[in-house]
Amino acid sequence: MTTTMTALTFDTKRDGWDTSTGMVKDRVAVPAFDPQTDHASVLIKVKYAGFCGSDRGIWWRKAFGDMIQGSLAEEGKTTRVIGHELLGEIVDVGVKVGEKYGYKAGDVVSTESHIICGTCHQCRVGDSHVCAKDKIIGISLDGCFAEYLKLPAKALWPTDLSRIRPEVAAVQEPFGNAVHACQATDLRGKTVAILGCGTIGLFAVLIARGMGATKIIGVEVDPKHAQMARDLGCDVVLTPQPSNPAKPHASDPDLRAAIRELTGGVGVDVAFEMAGFNSSMNNAIKVVRRGGHVVLFGVKNGDAVIEDVHRVVMDGIQLHGIVGRQIFGTWEITRCLLEDRGNGIQDAIWNTILERGQDTIVDIGDWEKKAFEGIISRHPKAVIRFAG
Ligand SMILES: [Zn+2]
Ligand SMILES: [Zn+2]
Repeated sequence: MTTTMTALTFDTKRDGWDTSTGMVKDRVAVPAFDPQTDHASVLIKVKYAGFCGSDRGIWWRKAFGDMIQGSLAEEGKTTRVIGHELLGEIVDVGVKVGEKYGYKAGDVVSTESHIICGTCHQCRVGDSHVCAKDKIIGISLDGCFAEYLKLPAKALWPTDLSRIRPEVAAVQEPFGNAVHACQATDLRGKTVAILGCGTIGLFAVLIARGMGATKIIGVEVDPKHAQMARDLGCDVVLTPQPSNPAKPHASDPDLRAAIRELTGGVGVDVAFEMAGFNSSMNNAIKVVRRGGHVVLFGVKNGDAVIEDVHRVVMDGIQLHGIVGRQIFGTWEITRCLLEDRGNGIQDAIWNTILERGQDTIVDIGDWEKKAFEGIISRHPKAVIRFAG
């Protein structure tokens, strides 16, 4: 095996966080792997890696700067390999891996991107998705935009390529994010609004339908994404008014009226905030019925204003914050939704969200920064092919 590999990186010495953008296609060392000392880890050869919303945040230096630079300083190095959505093949295993986790060389796996400690309070009471000491692949550990990476076997998720096509299997982690959001409350027989139909919102349309929602209302500004949401099964997609610059957090009264009208004057049972704007959060609170559920996913940084808090408390609205995936409960549901070809979800991901791979799947050999920036601006989801 060669000792160096191609990877997409950020380097604190080379790239100023505030003065650069994007990632650099770089040659870096293949992770050192010793089956004796890395007894519970595996070495993985990456087949496909998904490019995520978090990676966009890193690309434009809007998110994860402190975590990347802080973790590099702790490790005493300057180069971080980015990327956390993975499909790969195990090529080497630590001596304990077979007996403890059942993996062997040749197995095809995806991975949970949050590496949990296993010993903190949350981990011990079964809430390991909110582990107090978790590390995130491609942010606080080297990631999968690389030909190889080393991972603890406990984070892996076995994937059967006879049931899930590889390009879809590479996006199980973000799809799982949307599954987790849809697990916040029972969706059977419910009316649902999905505010923001980016990648996770589009996944949520499919999942909400798969989990039994009766009416799904999308809210989306971008015409291409709105059309995708219709193609994936939204009953109707509404366009919100642009937010008022003098009051950017304010909700849109017309949107509320339109959703009331579509729900017999009641409001939806469940609203998902997946756009990432303060106004969208307030729209979500306004469009649910009394006693409804608001699932918060999009807005995750800084301060936000909740308008009319009376509405939240006195109308008995439940707010749910969603992070990551339940480990591995969400992965099991994800597997069932993707492997069941009868629900059409896997085909819809490939045909509509991944646009059958046209301009969305990029070979690492052809990867070039400017061209890739165009791809991630034109498509909700891009996948980088490393091998296979
Ligand atoms: Zn992600
Ligand atoms: Zn923990």
